[in-house]
Order: sequence, then structure tokens, then C-alpha cells
Amino acid sequence: MAVDATQPYDDQNIFAKILRGEIPNKTVYQDEFALAFHDINPQAPTHVLVIPKGAYVSWDDFSAKASDAEIAGFVRAVGLVARQMGLVEPGYRLLANTGTNSHQEVPHLHVHLFAGQPLGPMLVR
Ligand code: 5GP
Repeated sequence: MAVDATQPYDDQNIFAKILRGEIPNKTVYQDEFALAFHDINPQAPTHVLVIPKGAYVSWDDFSAKASDAEIAGFVRAVGLVARQMGLVEPGYRLLANTGTNSHQEVPHLHVHLFAGQPLGPMLVR
């Protein structure tokens, strides 16, 4: 079910459990600010999720409340993951679903990183 991006943080969400090591994941990269891992149901040949280590529901929550260091660390981690995976050329797509209309399902901020083939139109029409 899609989540309301303004709801309070639920520390029982699936990505909180992954961050605590309660659920396994295929880690691509991690540092002080971010964890990157393969999506369990990939929508492209490469489909990686990058999440901040802090407890933020959505892009809205993170951009309003995270510290400058958390924001810089997270954004740099997304770029680093893409570079380390060799995705800059031929290219990749970032997507952060936020709230009900976007069909955000997991209430912990995550950026999808898609690559590995031509990715088609930006949105379904
Ligand atoms: P959203 O729709 O919230 O933007 O995307 C949630 C994503 O999380 C989906 O692409 C879904 O496949 C992925 N996902 C959900 N549960 C798990 C899980 O337990 N492990 C991993 N690696 N990905 C998950």
C-alpha cells in the first residue's frame, strides 16, 4: 500500500530492519551516511536502492529535517555508487517516490538507481 510521506517514522519498516541487520540484503556500498543494496524485485538489469542511515520517511522528510552533513553524505553516496558500478556512461536514472500518488511503498527514504538498458520514457502515459 502506498504511504503518506508526512507520516511519523515507523521503525518496523522493512528498510529499518535491513539497516539493523535483521533482514539480509545484497549490499553494493555503505558508509556513515548511506546503504546501497540490490532491489529484491529488479525493474531493470541494474536496480539498486540507496537509503540514508538516518530515520527519514521520505524525500520530503529528509530534505526538511536532515543535517547538511547527512544530505551531502547521502547525495555523494548515490553518485559514488553509480560511478563505482560503471553506470555514468551509458547512463542511469534516479527515482525517489514520495507519498501516495507516487506509490511509495516503503516508508524510509530510498532512491532507486536504474541502469543496464535504454530506460524508455520517463513516465507511463
Ligand atoms: P517504492 O515503491 O517504495 O518506491 O519502492 C520500494 C522498493 O523496495 C520496491 O522496488 C521493492 O521491490 C523493494 N523492496 C521491498 N522489500 C524489499 C526487501 O525486503 N529487500 C529489498 N532488497 N528490496 C525490497
